[in-house]
Order: sequence, then C-alpha cells, then structure tokens
Amino acid sequence: MSTLTNEEKEIILSSIRDIPDFPKPGIIFKDITTLLSNPKALNTLMTHLEERYKEYDLDYIAGIDARGFIFGSILADRLGLGFVTIRKKGKLPYTTVAEKYSLEYGFDEVEVHIDAFANENNNGEDARVLLIDDLIATGGTATAAASLINKVGAVCVEACFVMELDFLNGKENIDAPVYSVLHID
Ligand code: AMP
Repeated sequence: MSTLTNEEKEIILSSIRDIPDFPKPGIIFKDITTLLSNPKALNTLMTHLEERYKEYDLDYIAGIDARGFIFGSILADRLGLGFVTIRKKGKLPYTTVAEKYSLEYGFDEVEVHIDAFANENNNGEDARVLLIDDLIATGGTATAAASLINKVGAVCVEACFVMELDFLNGKENIDAPVYSVLHID
C-alpha cells in the first residue's frame, strides 16, 4: 500500500487555500479549488489514492455532495469502478433512502438511490463501497452517509477524506474505518 512522503504531503497541503471567516466568522474554509486546478497536486493525491485502494477489492466509490463527487469520480474511473452520488435531500430523481443528521441548529439529510449498489454487479454479494469526501469536520455528514450505505444493503469498507480536522474528533461515530490523507490540528 502506498505511503505519501512528507514532500508529497506538502505538495497537496500547500495547494489548498485557507479562507478565513467563510462562510461565517470563526470558520477557516479549506478551499480545494486551488488543489483541483494544480495538476501536480491533483495527480499526487489521486495516484496515492489509486495505489491505496487498488488492493481493497471494491465494487463502488460513493462520493458526498458536492466536493466528494470530484475526487470520488476520478478515483472510480482510475480503478475501473462505478461511482455513486450521496446527495443532499431533494436532489435525487428516483426512489431514495434518507438519513438525518444534526447540525449546530436543526437537522440536515442525505439520500441515496435505493438501488445504487445493485447486487447484479457483485455476483449477489453485498457491494463493497469506499465513501469519500474532501473534508471531515464534526463528522455528521460522513456518519450519516456511511450508515446510508449500510442501510441499502452494501458495506462501507472505509471512509476516506483528503483532510481531517483532528480537533473536532469527527470520525468517532462513523461505522467504518477512516483514512485521512492530511491531518489538520
Ligand atoms: P461535517 O459534517 O461537520 O464533518 O462537515 C463536513 C462537510 O462540510 C464536508 O462536505 C465539507 O466539505 C464541509 N466542510 C466543513 N467544514 C469545512 C471547512 N472548514 N472547510 C471546507 N469545507 C468544510
């Protein structure tokens, strides 16, 4: 399994732009648009993820709305796998299964198509799915997304993030192993 060198980590980390006080005061927003537009950083990241996950015997990659779609679909294509979207409520057109999670004030909801991880592609076995997003903060979104994957009869083999905000301890409730490329403390 591939391990990133410190130099490769720095190539990725330095390509991500910090935007203070966005979308509200006190938040440092990790802007990955500058990673996406930097071919060396994007290639370093995606080659690392491809090397890591080619050993996992996966059936699908599932990406979280919306930045998880970008990394997830590149990785799915590199690994020759299908890609599934986990979306915010009300965006998916076919029959969905939903999972609620709490925010600072109130609730939000993620959904997936009921047949997203169809068994006919996996010889009748439960599909092995990698969940991916750009960043884990409180972990609410990813915890809901992982339980959604399990709810529709698939197995969330791992949850993967480009960045993890370590001080928020977001991974503790996720019902799957967690891998983060970069740790921010
Ligand atoms: P959470 O549910 O708190 O783990 O939030 C994760 C979701 O919110 C991910 O889809 C992230 O893209 C986004 N997010 C949360 N905090 C940040 C941040 N500081 N910078 C960029 N995106 C963030």
